[in-house]
Amino acid sequence: MELTRYSVIEDKNPREIVLLRGRGCAWRRCRFCDYHLDASKDEQVNLALNCAALAQVTGQYARLEAINSGSFAELDETTVAEIERVCREKGIRDLHIESHWIFRKTLPALRARFAAVGVTLHVKIGVETFDADYRERVLDKGIDETDPAKIAAGFDDCCLLFGLAGQTADGMTRDIETGLRYFDRVCVNIMVPNTTPVRPDGAARAAFVRDVYPRYRDNPRVDILLENTDFGVGELK
Ligand code: SF4
Repeated sequence: MELTRYSVIEDKNPREIVLLRGRGCAWRRCRFCDYHLDASKDEQVNLALNCAALAQVTGQYARLEAINSGSFAELDETTVAEIERVCREKGIRDLHIESHWIFRKTLPALRARFAAVGVTLHVKIGVETFDADYRERVLDKGIDETDPAKIAAGFDDCCLLFGLAGQTADGMTRDIETGLRYFDRVCVNIMVPNTTPVRPDGAARAAFVRDVYPRYRDNPRVDILLENTDFGVGELK
């Protein structure tokens, strides 16, 4: 699979972004997800690929997003050290990463590690929806907490997933408002066809585009990815 692994996001929250590769998602159960397939147990091969992506970072916005198809904790230490080096050398002051709920206890030490080199960590969690029953029964997301405030406690930003069967404009709006109340930033992903049995729902997507998108399109705290490659990394068509 040939993936684009470096891009620059120019509009909201301008930043460079790299798509790195780790040992693979430890959870791997979310029913809508197949991007955990971007993984390898070979640390040296991952490191070479990650170094090639990180070598393109210029530091132009002093802000970098380093994602992998899973959680930051699944990156090898050699790659984390390389991220740290690039942050220092390119003057990165803010680093955005992603983490599943199950790794929340690893985050304080990671924040301290990057703070020691002058970098503020912003950690994004995939919540997908604050409707805990739908999230766990239908999506199998693996967050054993229903209170949004408690979910948000160890994290800064959240991802939401819309365009799924049963979702309504009211429900999606409620999710974004909850996200904005408890998190610094909200990233909305719209379900696209992939290799899982979960299909995008045309009615839910249409409701989002018609009734929800116009309200948040210009909100500087809300990223909206109508296609999952809108950040410029991943499997570009
Ligand atoms: S959405 Fe994230 S946590 Fe869930 S299976 Fe995919 S990579 Fe793993």
